[in-house]
Amino acid sequence: MSDQPHLQVKDLSYRYEPEAPLALDGVSLVVPHGQFVAVLGHNGSGKSTLAKLLNGLFLPTEGQVTVSGMDTRDDGKVWDIRRTAGMVFQNPDNQLVATRVYDDVAFGLENIGVPSEEMPARIDEALKLTGMLEFADRAPHLLSGGQKQRVAIAGILAMHPEALILDEATAMLDPRGRKEVLDTVQRLNREQGITVVWITHFMQEAATAQRVLVMDHGKIAMDGTPREVFSQVERLRALRLDVPPMTHLAQLLRQRGVDIGMDVLSVDDMVKEVKRLCPSCLNS
Ligand code: ADP
Ligand code: MG
Repeated sequence: MSDQPHLQVKDLSYRYEPEAPLALDGVSLVVPHGQFVAVLGHNGSGKSTLAKLLNGLFLPTEGQVTVSGMDTRDDGKVWDIRRTAGMVFQNPDNQLVATRVYDDVAFGLENIGVPSEEMPARIDEALKLTGMLEFADRAPHLLSGGQKQRVAIAGILAMHPEALILDEATAMLDPRGRKEVLDTVQRLNREQGITVVWITHFMQEAATAQRVLVMDHGKIAMDGTPREVFSQVERLRALRLDVPPMTHLAQLLRQRGVDIGMDVLSVDDMVKEVKRLCPSCLNS
């Protein structure tokens, strides 16, 4: 199972209406099991459309999408696919339905017909994995945005997914909530081997991924490691995107004649460069 590509997209096109322009235009993509891939692209470039095709919420106008070898066009596989590739959306309030965190996670399990005696263990495990176990009896609407998203993620985890697709899941959160959710998902990827498709408009989030895809006009315009993608500043600018803040700062310093490396993506990278350039500037 695990040597076959996890998410596979072949010559995929999608239009919302018969006469509408293509929202996705000939996209091909292979995501291996366990990969953390970030997806960038300006508004309307096709990110959300791709996300909904990846878990069978939408079906291809042309081309094919398979999830763990299951074709999303196969009627009999719809629920297997949605359970295997769970989606987290932007607005946490639209994803929580119950008046207690525990019941919210239970809701999804009831929907897929998990026997009730199996539910408590699965719910506890999912809440533990997202660091929300101590909130099991709380009312979801009283939680912070980051906590709500972690409950939404727990609801999916309880279904034992193999992939998480998060469509700007941090867009409505404050910086602390954003970090909470990203840390949680990174840990699930690392420790549980869950494949992650992380759609974001925060460059510094994409900089932490194993792979970055950039979408433009319904096509994949760039595909590489964060270093490969973010070193192409002009290309990104043409696609109306930025580079991560530390990469930008490194460029400004380079323009001023500072001999700083070309591949600074994070604060840690920047600290390394400062140490290299000025060993006496930092004492740790
Ligand atoms: P992104 O998530 O990158 O902002 P979308 O996938 O939402 O982009 O949109 C891709 C294209 O599809 C855009 O041209 C958008 O206007 C169009 N589109 C998105 N949702 C709908 C919809 N529900 N009905 C019609 N067109 C849509
Ligand atoms: Mg979108």
